[in-house]
Amino acid sequence: MVFILKPKISQDKIDDFIRGWEEKGFSAVLSIGTERTAVCLIGNTTQIDPDDIVRARSDIVVSGKQITERYKAVNRAVNENGTVIDVGGVKIGEGYFPVISGPCSVESEEQVLAVARSIKTSGAKLLRGGAFKPRTSPYDFQGMQAEGLELLSLAKRETGLPIVSEIMNQSQIELFEDVDIVQIGARNMQNFDLLKAVGNLKKPVLLKRGLANTIEELLMSAEYIAASGNPNVILCERGIRTFESMTRNTLDLSAVILLKQKSHLPVIADPSHAAGIRSLVEPLAKAIMAVGADGIMIETHNDPANALCDGAQSLDLEQFDALMRELKKRAELEGKVI
Ligand code: PEP
Ligand code: MN
Repeated sequence: MVFILKPKISQDKIDDFIRGWEEKGFSAVLSIGTERTAVCLIGNTTQIDPDDIVRARSDIVVSGKQITERYKAVNRAVNENGTVIDVGGVKIGEGYFPVISGPCSVESEEQVLAVARSIKTSGAKLLRGGAFKPRTSPYDFQGMQAEGLELLSLAKRETGLPIVSEIMNQSQIELFEDVDIVQIGARNMQNFDLLKAVGNLKKPVLLKRGLANTIEELLMSAEYIAASGNPNVILCERGIRTFESMTRNTLDLSAVILLKQKSHLPVIADPSHAAGIRSLVEPLAKAIMAVGADGIMIETHNDPANALCDGAQSLDLEQFDALMRELKKRAELEGKVI
């Protein structure tokens, strides 16, 4: 059950309302969005008629609705209009379609600055870069780690682009202070301790779908973060593992559409990891925009042939610029802010 509260209700009144439910044996998740505040009741609410509560508590409640799905706080019913997340002035969601781009991994000051400056000129709104890399082989480049995060911060200061980077475990949280969006990678989508830990942060979390996870499992992982107190979650479809071996993964465009229908959270997609092949990135990016995603994440490199990670799927800086010109044309037709 979700109750949408009237605007400008004092925290004391909200706490009081929640305490009343807790005394009846329910637990409650408070979701404070920029436009509305919602209280989700967790427990067996089948005997409660939401309209009774709206009548009895018209001083504080605007509307109430049963939520039958297991995901409550991230359910579309909590915010039918969809949530827009603000990242250092860059908006994501409901008509805002920012492009996140940058190298798979930060490799050097020269590399990250060259990429950051170029993608900014092309129109990217956020810079991505891996500092801690989850690699299949322990013998592959593991990322520059803390030094990589410092180089990302430098690129942020130089270009003004907010930065996105992947966290691998909760012991790294302090290092991520200057990171604007904390990414949870596909391999960590069900690392529940990590989900709870980033749920205690205030900053947005980019949650990527696991290689072999269902749409509902992705929503339940987002629910972990929201239930821990952080409603600022961005969902990311990045391809799932199928029997197909000619692409690295299979981009699940239906998931993008369904996630938008089921959840109020912004949904983006990552064609680079989905395809694993550079020539597929641009057509997939156009498709991602066409099905109604709220943004896109694309790997770029100043010298893809010599990239330490994921070079085969990385666009060079000219290719990225060409892609941005195409996306901008389409965004204009669709009335989206890119
Ligand atoms: C990445 O974005 O660099 C990454 C490792 O992605 P994923 O977790 O989707 O594989
Ligand atoms: Mn990568």
